Formats: sequence, C-alpha cells, structure tokens
Amino acid sequence: MSEKSLSDLINNPSCLDDYDPNSMPVAQARKYIREFLEPVTTVEVLPIRSTLGRVLAEDILSPCNVPNHDNSAMDGYAFNADDLNSSGETSLNIIGTAFAGKAFDGRIGKGQCVRIMTGAVMPQGADTVVVQERVQVDGEHIRFTDGPKRGMNMRCAGEDLKQGQVVLPAGHLMRAADLGLIASLGLGELRVYRKLRVAFFSTGDELASIGQALEAGQVYDSNRYTLFGMLTRMGVEIIDMGVVRDVPELLEQALKDAAASADVILTSGGVSVGEADFMKQLLEKLGQVVFWKIAMKPGRPLAYGKVGNAHYFGLPGNPVSVMVTFYQFVREALLVLMGQPQPATQPLLDVVCIGEIRKLPGRTEFQRGILFPAENGNWQVKPTGNQGSGILRSMAEANCFIVLDENTGNVAPGNIVKVQILDGLT
Ligand code: AMP
Ligand code: MG
Repeated sequence: MSEKSLSDLINNPSCLDDYDPNSMPVAQARKYIREFLEPVTTVEVLPIRSTLGRVLAEDILSPCNVPNHDNSAMDGYAFNADDLNSSGETSLNIIGTAFAGKAFDGRIGKGQCVRIMTGAVMPQGADTVVVQERVQVDGEHIRFTDGPKRGMNMRCAGEDLKQGQVVLPAGHLMRAADLGLIASLGLGELRVYRKLRVAFFSTGDELASIGQALEAGQVYDSNRYTLFGMLTRMGVEIIDMGVVRDVPELLEQALKDAAASADVILTSGGVSVGEADFMKQLLEKLGQVVFWKIAMKPGRPLAYGKVGNAHYFGLPGNPVSVMVTFYQFVREALLVLMGQPQPATQPLLDVVCIGEIRKLPGRTEFQRGILFPAENGNWQVKPTGNQGSGILRSMAEANCFIVLDENTGNVAPGNIVKVQILDGLT
C-alpha cells in the first residue's frame, strides 16, 4: 500500500486534495508521513527496569487484586460498624494488634476491636477503622464519639486494580510510574518491541569536525550533536555516520550503508532550494522521496520518503531548523515506528506573551520562548532574542516553543499565545 501511495505523492499529486509541495501546511505533512509508517514488529522479553522508554507489545493484565486484601488506610482501631453507638459514645474492647505484614489471626466479635497499623490486613469481622487520634484509650478499652461511617479508613481489595483487568495496553510507552505499577503486580518481565535503529549524518562541504581549525567559510558540525541528544532521549539505537561531503558518490554510499543497517535515516542539509536538485537525483535512484517546502518557520525545506526499506527524513541544514523539524515531524514518526499507534499529542498551553512578535499569516512559526512565573503568580512567556534559524543559542536558552499558527499575525505585548513546553519533548 505504502509503495503505491508514496509514488502517488511524488508523481501524481494532483489526485490528492489541496496538495501543494511548495506550501505544505505542518499538519498536512504530518498526516501524509503518518500514512507510510510501519511500526517494528520484533518483540523482546526484558526485565522491568530495561523496559523504560520501550513500547509494550501486549496488554498487561493484572494477575491479582491490588491491594490483595482489605487493609487499613490509617493507624487506628478496626471494628464492625454495627457496634457504633450513633447517639453517644462507642466503647470497645481491644483484643489484639494487626501490623502491616503480620495480620491478626482471630475474628472480631460484638463489642470488640483490634489495634491496627496502616497497611495491615483488616481482621475478620471488621469493616471500619477509627483513627487513633479520635480515640481515648483506657487500658484494654477504647472510647470515641462521632465515629466514622462504615467502610471508612480502609482500602478494599482490588480497589486499585482488579484481577484480569488491563493495567497497561499494548502500544504503551513505559515510564517511571509504569515500572512501579508492573512491579506492584509481581511481574518480572515484559514483552516489548525492539529498539528502533536510527542512522544519521550531516552533509556539507563547509562542515569542520571538532579538533580541526576552522578555515574561512567553515562551520563546526553541530547538527550531529543535537541529533545525538534528541535521539538518545528518545531511547533509540543510534548509528552516527559522521559528516559526508556534498559529493554524489559519497552521499550515495552513505545512504546505502544507512539503509542497510537502520530503520530510519536522518540527514541534515542539502534539501534547500540551492542544493535539493542534487539530492533529488540521488534519492530518485535509491528510493522514493518527496521534497516539500513546509509552510513553517524555521525549517521550510523537508524531504520524506523511503530509501530501501528505511524511512528517510531530509532535514534542513540550519541548526535551529533541524531541532524544530525533528520535534514537529520526526519525533512523532519515531514514536509510531517504535510501536506506539497513537503518540500523545504534546499539550499546547495558552499563556500571556510579554514581548512583541512580528509575523505574517500563512505559515506556522515556532519561536523560541522562555516561560517564567510573573509577579502576579501567573506564568508568562517572552521570546528569546534573535530568532534566526542559525542561532542555536535561542534553542539553548528556551524552555518552550511559542507556536503561532497559520492564521496568526503580529503579536502585541499582553496577547495570549500558545506554547509547547520543551521538557517532555526532550
Ligand atoms: P543547507 O540546508 O545545507 O543549505 O544548510 C543551511 C545552513 O545550515 C548553512 O549555513 C550551513 O552551513 C548550515 N549547516 C548545515 N549543516 C550544518 C551542520 N551540520 N552544523 C552546523 N551548521 C550546518
Ligand atoms: Mg549544505
């Protein structure tokens, strides 16, 4: 299915509604890419800790009730609510003690109670706990007024999870709480999808590597380092293929090598108008790739397709554009390929912007912003300074994107804007 539609997208775009490769809306490009993503299918069985950041390959069913027994939620005295004296004082005899991990053996009879600690199993016959602070103790007796209602201060078996209930569904990305949740069920191993393999390289004759002195017109290759960081945070296996010069034979070999070893290939540079023809010819030979000009800033050029069996993303060369296109297109695609059918949509929050932003409608802008708590206690955002797509400092300073959609024009100080928080993305 995907081979055919991908060639439709390249050769016969007029059959697609509103298809304009020279002004592709962000959401539309995401949607097209989504149609071609085929998740990995290989499954591994791993101990709980190693599943952090992996995607579950099957539903996890609870093998037991959690909690396993009715137990006390407080330190106090367990009794049966039939013994409550609703019009005055309730008085009970203490017949024993129940500790967490050491239950009281006997059964509570009429007029009796058991001293009970938080987490201890409720003694037979008891259905309510009165907290110790509300009780007067007198030797082997307790007295209290205004007793708790039946069932209070206890946790019922299965109130967290019932035996057989789906605890986490297949396709779920494992996070810290999930590790604990799985451990609370007594499960030691899980079936998860294998790690995704992502190969990447930087293209450009002007790129110098760290350790070399810069010659006139050269810049250090920074994209491979941001890509390393972003990919590592996503828990994929990375294959760093270094810098490849703008020489067709070298690029061709690098793409072939990448396709042979990786599920996904990322390149930076070489897809802008001046250079794209070169890459286009090459990619036509090796696979099926579309070149779009996305209606966004930064990050206008983007190439997407298949090289061999690998998914290919040709990212722009500018350092900020690389990060923005990664977060807006590649990240979600990787999550789908990792086995998550519906990656969570990143929240877009409304916040007052205290700076002025000049913007033309017609494209989506991802300005770099700093969210901070204002004196009135509300959070506000201000753009970092220079928003040039080569100014990587603007990304390093930022803790959010200010997302201005296609319909938005200039922003005046005090206007509400949408922000996407970088923590969580990164
Ligand atoms: P390109 O998309 O190849 O035309 O590159 C656009 C701009 O990004 C140029 O100024 C390049 O020098 C710069 N650039 C491309 N690749 C890198 C890289 N790996 N690290 C830093 N800057 C880069
Ligand atoms: Mg270049």
